[in-house]
Amino acid sequence: EPFGGLKLLKIVIYGTGYVGLTTGAAMAFLGHEVTCVDIDEAKIASLRGGKSPIYEPRLDELMELAGGNLRFSVDPAPALSEAEVVFVAVGTPPMADGNPDLTAVQSAASSIGRHLGLGFTVVVNKSTVPIGSGHWVESLIAEASGEGDIRNLRNRCCVASNPEFLREGSALCDILYPDRVVVGSENPTANEVLARLYEPILQQSFTAPWFLPRPEGMGAVPLVATDLASAELIKYASNAFLCTKISLINEIGNLAEKVGADITHIARGMGLDARIGGRFLQAGLGWGGSCFGKDSAALIATAKEYDIRMPIVEAAREVNYAQRDLVVTKLLNELKILKGRTVGILGLAFKPNTDDIRDAPALDIAQRLIDRGARIQAHDPIALDRASCQLNHSGIRFGPTAEAVAAGADALVLTTDWAMYRDLPWKRMAKTMANPLILDGRNFLDQAQLVNAGFRFLSIGR
Ligand code: NAD
Repeated sequence: EPFGGLKLLKIVIYGTGYVGLTTGAAMAFLGHEVTCVDIDEAKIASLRGGKSPIYEPRLDELMELAGGNLRFSVDPAPALSEAEVVFVAVGTPPMADGNPDLTAVQSAASSIGRHLGLGFTVVVNKSTVPIGSGHWVESLIAEASGEGDIRNLRNRCCVASNPEFLREGSALCDILYPDRVVVGSENPTANEVLARLYEPILQQSFTAPWFLPRPEGMGAVPLVATDLASAELIKYASNAFLCTKISLINEIGNLAEKVGADITHIARGMGLDARIGGRFLQAGLGWGGSCFGKDSAALIATAKEYDIRMPIVEAAREVNYAQRDLVVTKLLNELKILKGRTVGILGLAFKPNTDDIRDAPALDIAQRLIDRGARIQAHDPIALDRASCQLNHSGIRFGPTAEAVAAGADALVLTTDWAMYRDLPWKRMAKTMANPLILDGRNFLDQAQLVNAGFRFLSIGR
């Protein structure tokens, strides 16, 4: 009994994406018995072969540590009949009207209903789903189970919300060492089961893997146990806040640039105020990724159903997407003509340490430049394979190295602040360019070093 008599749980997880797989690996590492299921047979085959279909730092090592506690299957039935906790961590991609597409959640819920065991099962929504989805999932389970009426199912199953706050690139640390755990349910037993599930994390009573050391000064983790709707809204509200924080610093940055101020100094001066905090205060090309755009749109769409407007969240989105036009404007200023010019893009992933390119600013920017007649050659240290598979008709050419995309280019744009881009052989690269111009879209590079290497150097908000 590794955790002092703590009862370990049998868990099933629907969806082996960025959230489901990392959660599964972490829970299995903690000693719970986890079965991850997915409808994507190729993913399951790859996982069974010991290979993760996504890139997330240290995931392979944690999966190996989890060993036999972590299993994979396309068939949920056997594991589900004994499961005490079932996570729904399937994708909820955005639709044109701002609402998330809940098809995958719906089919997972029906599958759970069909295979539900006779013991008590807590079904946990980890996917980011609109307010009210908990009740909807409960009704789908009841329907598929043949019970029809939810009240007949109450002694076998209940639904809870347990929103996920992990960041891709540091997902495993975010799961093992979170700032808080949020659980929401109308059923006190559900919150108790989840408190037990998270016990090792809440108490930080597990031995940290050597490759994921516990942050210094880390104490017990607060548990926020609340009702379903509040838990669901905590997730949307948190993301809306982070979107707004970044958009605000970008808005200030656009003014700073005009008045001759430096946004990096401004952000430092602001961020040292404990009420503000320095994180998520970097001016640049703005946010992207699979969550911020989707979740802010979904929040606005939900509010609309109640005849409520969300002008702050709307403005955060407007500022963010306008920020991507800055690249076009700045390059036009310098090059005057974009038609026929070659622009090298450094970084395709929406941020460093992930291979995720969903709503990546780099791709949007590349498209805006292509629309203006520019030729794009792009590099990414990790996301290159995924990008070249998914975007082989986009007109983007993919270069094997940063140096290759610089060669012959009229400008370079740094779109993702990968650590490996900090110290490229800039002098050599400047020499191979048609025009040694670089736009640092993340205020990440050392200006003096680049100027010294022969570049005309542009950045954001200074
Ligand atoms: P993803 O696209 O990486 O993974 C989703 C997985 O679900 C895929 O492997 C897909 O094949 C599988 N799937 C689809 N339908 C299924 C079904 N019926 N049964 C079993 N598996 C099914 O998505 P993700 O990035 O892991 O996100 C999952 C959810 O978590 C989303 O709602 C997202 O908003 C939320 N979330 C994501 C992050 C993040 O950083 N990625 C952070 C917090 C919350």
